[in-house]
Amino acid sequence: MISAILPTYNRAPLSFVSGEGSWLVEADGRRFLDLGSGIAVNVLGHAHPALTAALTAQAGALWHTSNLYQIPQQEALARKLVDATFADTCFFTNSGTEACELAVKMARKYWSEKGHPERNVIIAFTGSFHGRSSAGIAAAGSEKMTKGFGPLLPGFKHLTFADHEALTEAMKAPDVAAVILEPVQGEGGIIPVPDQCLKGLRDLCDETGALMILDEVQCGMGRTGRLFAHEWAGISPDIMMVAKGIGGGFPLGALLATERAASGMTAGTHGSTYGGNPLACAVGNAVIDIVSDETFLAEVRRKASLFRQGLEGLVASHPDVFELVRGSGLMMGLKCRVPNSDVLQAAYGQNLCVVPAADNVLRLLPALNVEDADIREAIARLDRAAASLSPA
Ligand SMILES: *Cc1c(COP(=O)(O)O)cnc(C)c1O
Repeated sequence: MISAILPTYNRAPLSFVSGEGSWLVEADGRRFLDLGSGIAVNVLGHAHPALTAALTAQAGALWHTSNLYQIPQQEALARKLVDATFADTCFFTNSGTEACELAVKMARKYWSEKGHPERNVIIAFTGSFHGRSSAGIAAAGSEKMTKGFGPLLPGFKHLTFADHEALTEAMKAPDVAAVILEPVQGEGGIIPVPDQCLKGLRDLCDETGALMILDEVQCGMGRTGRLFAHEWAGISPDIMMVAKGIGGGFPLGALLATERAASGMTAGTHGSTYGGNPLACAVGNAVIDIVSDETFLAEVRRKASLFRQGLEGLVASHPDVFELVRGSGLMMGLKCRVPNSDVLQAAYGQNLCVVPAADNVLRLLPALNVEDADIREAIARLDRAAASLSPA
């Protein structure tokens, strides 16, 4: 008999009932060190006092009014995002995949309004992930996500980063509207796109007019040690998808864009009932106030190098379990030599939460304010997990 919850997830038999900082408490009282952060969401850990205060204050005042009215919390958050980034304007969503939907609509509308509706193809990359909506799975294009869900939304072309010639050729085709990519692929296995590639793509976009859409749903909001990952390459996109960390655990997403890219999106062209509601934006404001602070980001970079050192040590001492470590900031991946599901189970055995990804990788996505002591504890637990797997 089917479970009361649609069985689309293979869930671990763990039920967490409370959390504090980087720690989660299971119903039976066991304390787990959380290196998953609800898949890069809880950027300030669990039960952060500033976030709890923002949420409870708003909960006592007003939950929801809809976008038929002005929402002061939403306007404040949009102003902060615009001031902190390349963007001139924002639209708030409830999730990453809804931001993807708008990114695709916006890019096509842009060219349509310019009198070029034939420019509607979006170039995307193999191994990418953009969410589970129809546009999201069409953009990612992997069979794992698309099989059985056809016909897929047309107008996506898939390439690899490695093949520069094919990419240059494809970008110059007369039907290209935009290119979409994650600066650091998350679900794909924590694969950073080299700065040179991002710069090269930016140049190609400038040359051809194609819009650059960056999906920073997972790698944004301070995760890499900069507010947004593309800042490392010294470039900026035309459109950017944000979600996960932006609400610190409250469902919130955003689509950021330049005035030029957004020029086709006039009143009535897009909407959302919940998007950017007072509760979500009250929390979003509290998150961005902390995470966009340069001192906070410098701390993320310092913690990241401590973490990376520990992970390099693990790879060196367990070469039969781990192949390599890669990533950026506090978005790290351990590529495994044994099935990553085995290491995941061993980590659970050490009361440690990590997240699997493609390419046999384990994702390590601690809270951005993780304590140094918790980083050391995480390395110690991963060390014991790996030791339990090594042939004695
Ligand atoms: C998680 C994720 C999404 C989808 O976000 P949802 O909130 O699950 O819809 C899109 N893109 C990237 C890069 C992601 O990591």
